[in-house]
Parts: sequence; C-alpha cells; structure tokens
Amino acid sequence: MDHSPLALAQSLLRCPSVTPAEGGALAFIESVLREAGFEVHRLVFSEPGTPDVENLYARYGKGEPYLLFAGHTDVVPPGDVSRWRHDPFGGVIDGSELHGRGAVDMKGGVACMMAGALAFIRERPDFKGSIGFLITGDEEGPAINGTVKLLDWAKGRGERFDACILGEPTNPNRLGDMIKIGRRGSLTGHVVVEGKQGHVAYPHLADNPIPNLMRILSALITKPLDHGTEHFDASNLEVTTVDVGNPAANVIPASARATFNIRFNDIWTPQSLEEEIACRLREAAGNTVRYTLTMEPTNAFAFLTEPNAFVGFIADAVEAETGIRPKLSTTGGTSDARFIVRDCPVVEFGLVGQTMHQVDERVPVADLDRLAVIYRKVLEAYFPEAV
Ligand SMILES: [Zn+2]
Repeated sequence: MDHSPLALAQSLLRCPSVTPAEGGALAFIESVLREAGFEVHRLVFSEPGTPDVENLYARYGKGEPYLLFAGHTDVVPPGDVSRWRHDPFGGVIDGSELHGRGAVDMKGGVACMMAGALAFIRERPDFKGSIGFLITGDEEGPAINGTVKLLDWAKGRGERFDACILGEPTNPNRLGDMIKIGRRGSLTGHVVVEGKQGHVAYPHLADNPIPNLMRILSALITKPLDHGTEHFDASNLEVTTVDVGNPAANVIPASARATFNIRFNDIWTPQSLEEEIACRLREAAGNTVRYTLTMEPTNAFAFLTEPNAFVGFIADAVEAETGIRPKLSTTGGTSDARFIVRDCPVVEFGLVGQTMHQVDERVPVADLDRLAVIYRKVLEAYFPEAV
C-alpha cells in the first residue's frame, strides 16, 4: 500500500464523512495502522439527543514515553457542490494541489501524521516508547461523543500520555508560520434589565430599561479586563446582541436584554471572570437598576503549554523543513486541545488554514510532503536513539 501523505490524504478525502457520518474514513485508518503493527480500537459513543459517533484509538509500542497524535476525520458539509471546481469527495489533484472537503481541516493533517509515524516506525521499529492516534468523528459537530469520551475511555484502560500533537490547521499563510501552544477560553453571559412598561407621553408612570441596560453594559466594556500576559493577548468582551423587541414607537418597553461573549486569557478562570462581571454590574447598577445575570456553562478554559523541550522539538522540525521559525501563538477559537490538555501537554501544528470550511478547500501537495517530514522529525527528536 502507498503510504505517501498524498495517497493517504486522497483515500481519506474520498470518504464522505460529514459529521456524524464515519464515511469509511476510520475504517481506512484502522486498516493502515493495523497493517503497520498498531493495536486499533473503534469506539462508538452515544448520548441521548445527539447522534452516535464513531471514533478511533490506536497505539504502537508499550513503553514510555508516549506521544499521541490527535485529530478528526469528520468534515463540515460541502454546501452547494456545483460551486466546487472538483467533486468535494473526489480526492482530485489539480496542478500542484489536492482538492476536497477536509484537505486542510483536517484529513490532510491526519494523513501527514500517519505518513510521518509510519515512516518513523519503518526506520526504527524497536524505538523505546509508544506512538498513539486519537481520532474523533465528532469535532465539527456537537463534540459530545468525541474527544472527551475517547480520553475518558483511554484513561479507564490505564493509558497515560506524555505529550500530544494536534494536527489542526494552525498556519495563517505559509506552512511554518505558527504553532499554537495554548488557546483562550470562552464564556457567554446574558443580562436582562427589568423596567416598567408605559406610554412614552407619561414617562413618570413607566421605567425605561434601555438606558439602564446601556449604563451597566458600558461598565463591562469601558475598562479593559486585563492587558494580556506573556503568551496571550488581552482578554476581550464583545456585546453580541442587544434586544428589546419593541414594535411600538409610543411604548416604553418592560425589559431589555443583551448577550456578550468573552475570549479570555490565562489570568482568568470562568469562575473568576464571572465574579468580575457580577461585581462590575453590581457597582454600575447601584440600588436603582433591577437586572439578572446568567452565565452559560463552559468547558472552554484558557490553557497554555509552557514552551518546553517538546515545543522546541516541533519548532526545530518546522524550521528545518520550511526555513521559517514558527511563531508560538495562543490566538484563534477553541479546539479539542482544551480537553486533551487535562491529560498531557498539547501543541497544535498542521497545514495552512486559508481554505478551511470553504468551497474548493485544497492543499498544496508539497505542503503534505513537508508536514509529514516535520512530524517524522518530531518523532526522531522525541524518541532519542539508544546509545
Ligand atoms: Zn478541524
């Protein structure tokens, strides 16, 4: 079987694995890894109200240290297929690029992790340590029957990981631009201000909630939450909607509501941030504004993998292969790394994200080859040669 990153990526792209469908993608990975000597488990997880999802866990070797590759084979829908230059599930090569849904997010990355690991194992089949794959089919969907349950299941069998590479597309422009060593957290809140409905001509008989909502909202946004930390930008609160829903120009409404979302750095936990928000609202409201604050539960904590030797191995391998010293970043949205980091340090490095979730998602074949080499070099550095 051809274990080049291109051949592996083409096979994966031809599996129509739009969340929650497995589409043959995990079956393909299972067959390739099993043939290379991995112990492979296919796991279906369920939860009332969500579709069942298939996942895969594979391990080569029994020793320590244990390096884990993590990723997903599910993809977002292609949308209007007629707008694509090529069949989104055709694995078509056009010039120097491979086209298809998931080319960069992240079947291409999964193919490179496999190709890199298989090349390393061919070179040094008796290396001291273990290489694993944690592949979910539920990253682009509700993310309930995926990575979290897979990690719990692995923990239940006594699996212990020392480090993890998540192959999500991390580079903004060129392969080598950016490694993610952490992610910001995310927290959403709702404020409702109560007033008293009335006729606009008789305001003394009513209590307009809108100026009060504006006043307490401005207490949330005028003073910065912080000024950033060594590896993180400043936390940011965005008011995402303000709703009164009042169709009448001559009625003072009874209540007004707003929603906000905060992307926060490693100064905060969701709890400490909630306390800060509650405190600011309390001060701004004084005794005059009646309001309620509701925070949505979140599992998106901020986390940081300190730039240690492991991060260094990846940065060195990226630089050796691309000539670019990657930026160590914590920008962007949340990822499954926030779950894995409970068990071991996680670093994210993958392809260039420019076309992800778009029509004509595609990847340069040269990038696939280079990313596979980068992953192989990380393994070579991580599992030192016995002397
Ligand atoms: Zn992804």
